[in-house]
Amino acid sequence: MAETYRRKMTAYEEVNWQYNKAADLIGIPEQYKSIMRNCYRELKVQLPVRRDNGKLEEYFGFRVQHNGARGPYKGGIRYHPSVNLDEVRALASLMTWKTALVDIPFGGAKGGVNCEPHTMSENELQYLTRTFTRKIDMALGVYRDIPAPDVNTDARVMAWIMDEYGRKNGYTPAIVTGKPIALGGSKGRQSATGLGVFYIAQRACRDYKLPLAGARVAIQGFGNVGSFAAEFLHQGGAKVIAVADADGGLINKDGLDIPKLIQHAKEKKSILGFKEADILPKEQIFSVPCEILIPAALNGVITEQNVEAIQAKLIIEGANNPINPHADHILKEKGIPVVPDILANAGGVTVSYFEWTQNLQQFYWEEKEVQQKLEAKMDRAYTEVWEMASKHKVPLRMAAFMVAIKRVYEAVQLRGV
Ligand code: NAD
Repeated sequence: MAETYRRKMTAYEEVNWQYNKAADLIGIPEQYKSIMRNCYRELKVQLPVRRDNGKLEEYFGFRVQHNGARGPYKGGIRYHPSVNLDEVRALASLMTWKTALVDIPFGGAKGGVNCEPHTMSENELQYLTRTFTRKIDMALGVYRDIPAPDVNTDARVMAWIMDEYGRKNGYTPAIVTGKPIALGGSKGRQSATGLGVFYIAQRACRDYKLPLAGARVAIQGFGNVGSFAAEFLHQGGAKVIAVADADGGLINKDGLDIPKLIQHAKEKKSILGFKEADILPKEQIFSVPCEILIPAALNGVITEQNVEAIQAKLIIEGANNPINPHADHILKEKGIPVVPDILANAGGVTVSYFEWTQNLQQFYWEEKEVQQKLEAKMDRAYTEVWEMASKHKVPLRMAAFMVAIKRVYEAVQLRGV
């Protein structure tokens, strides 16, 4: 491993590092290994935007389709200044393995624009989103590629994409998921990733013999994934003692009042200023003594620089690719289990699948039904990963990749080349 780390890996190399090892363990032939590792299609488009102050700015948008053997490409669209082609490839690849792992009929894709949405007005964001949609329109389709929300995009952005796509193609609600319910979104989609994290936390706590009731939890990120995970864990009896967002961190050893904090974050657009907690420098979120640590912000945040400080007994990856392979290796040596992203945060894409299904049949389900179906999917995927890990004596991440790669390999082979 030291050999590989003379040079820092890119995000895509990190994902492929895991992929290669898992593919070797299950004996995927070399030619297929390469076909399943590489991306099918990569789009990069120029997005000039006239800002409200008259200034002309240039952004770039990406859409990468990784593997579509099992169904239409599926993956979120992210707005963040750090978005680049390598990162989008990495996240697209993770989507292929995630959709295969939870056994929903999709492939993997991802998209993004390298903008800073917090500095943009609603008009600027809408203009950017519509331009991006038009420029990648030829690669989208209800049975081709279906975007969803990700970091800094939400139901409102999905509504603009649906509307812009519909101008040319007619009414097509199934072209995006994560839409507002009034436009064909699914009940339970907004909270689905956080709820999935909770279901997985329940099962992992059972298997690692850590009682969830009273378990201390620290969460990085208090957006869609982090705040809903906090809410469900709080309701489930865990004690969320520390959270951090882009602006800073908070800690309360007796447990944060999560419903109040959610209300505060909604009003102030930040967790800062919440009175019933002490301030925690945001980088220190990883060193908080706790039973469960949930990175739920960005990728690449746990590295060889900060991994030694982690005191948690279990890590559940709410974010995509938050731990680099070097840090992952150190965690394994330290005996801290990690429930990988492609399992732990698969609740979002699973309910996206339910939303797509409901749009296609134009028949809508109640939230309870969505949640029951989600729990069944997450439970089955968790059990398959646990059994694979036990059988091959490998960490959960390796086992999750093995389950997923097997499924994609079968589809690729059956389709023929
Ligand atoms: P979001 O934009 O709603 O929230 C992101 C959060 O991270 C915000 O609270 C932000 O302040 C915080 N953050 C950003 N930089 C930070 C920093 N340096 N330190 C601490 N906090 C920081 O995004 P989201 O939808 O919650 O996504 C979070 C992660 O989960 C991403 O990796 C995303 O790819 C992944 N994910 C999201 C979904 C989904 O359904 N939204 C599904 C699967 C995976």
